[in-house]
Amino acid sequence: MPDLTQSILELVRLTSTDLPPDVEKVLHQAVEREQPGSAARGALETVIKNVELSRKNSTPICQDTGTPIFYVHHPAGCSTQELRSQIEAAVVEATRKTYLRPNSVDSLTGKNSGNNLGGSHFPSIHFFEEEGDTLTIDLMLKGGGCENVGIQYSLPNSQLGAGRDLAGVRKVVLDAVFKAQGKGCAPGVLGVAIGGDRGTSYLASKEVLFQKLNESNPDPELAALEIRLTEEANQLGIGPMGFGGETTVLDTKITALNRLPACYFVTISYMCWAYRRRKMTVLTDGSVKYE
Ligand code: SF4
Repeated sequence: MPDLTQSILELVRLTSTDLPPDVEKVLHQAVEREQPGSAARGALETVIKNVELSRKNSTPICQDTGTPIFYVHHPAGCSTQELRSQIEAAVVEATRKTYLRPNSVDSLTGKNSGNNLGGSHFPSIHFFEEEGDTLTIDLMLKGGGCENVGIQYSLPNSQLGAGRDLAGVRKVVLDAVFKAQGKGCAPGVLGVAIGGDRGTSYLASKEVLFQKLNESNPDPELAALEIRLTEEANQLGIGPMGFGGETTVLDTKITALNRLPACYFVTISYMCWAYRRRKMTVLTDGSVKYE
């Protein structure tokens, strides 16, 4: 297997300093919805200017470069140990080059490792063996502010009148947006997982955020709920950064997992406007493509 450290370093640089085109496009659409001269429009204009400057100067889009979360889909015979070492080497170099802020802190001592490594879960790396010869690495940089407003509900929830059905899901998702009140740097995208156990539900609510914003959910019922939730969240009037306005949420992505008959979890992960996710694909001729 070739050494991919430099290619992964470029993946980290690109993810930290340049938003994906689908995200930038919805931010531009959001600006047009806000009243000229409003605080909401001003906030979004500043966000867009910041995104353009970061791309031009190759500097991080936000000072919090978040938790690096890697999803590696590899062919049979690939050494995951080697891949892990190359990802870690790339993360250390990206931190040295200031594409990443040193963000890995020992939970007991508070000591920052200084290089974004630490324990067995920082950075967070998930491996999946796939059919075929292609290797892909998806990276998300998930900021702390938006991570803090993630939440999990166990249905039924009598306080919210939310039962174990999609009507109940709708109620708790809107409750989560209302509770956040723009914290976690709105506008962002909701990743919603229905079902699973508590752990798999949280994981799936982040995995669904790797989907592109212009891709529709293949399940027509979930696709309709995604559109409805985005529209209704935007009627709450919370707006960019909580300044009020038309855009609290840019999009909603929902996935459903099997669950125990006794459990019905709904987990919401929120991704701020600094929606940093990128993919690299290593083609069979060894060349690398970035999306
Ligand atoms: S929530 Fe997002 S935009 Fe806000 S500070 Fe964190 S990374 Fe930056």
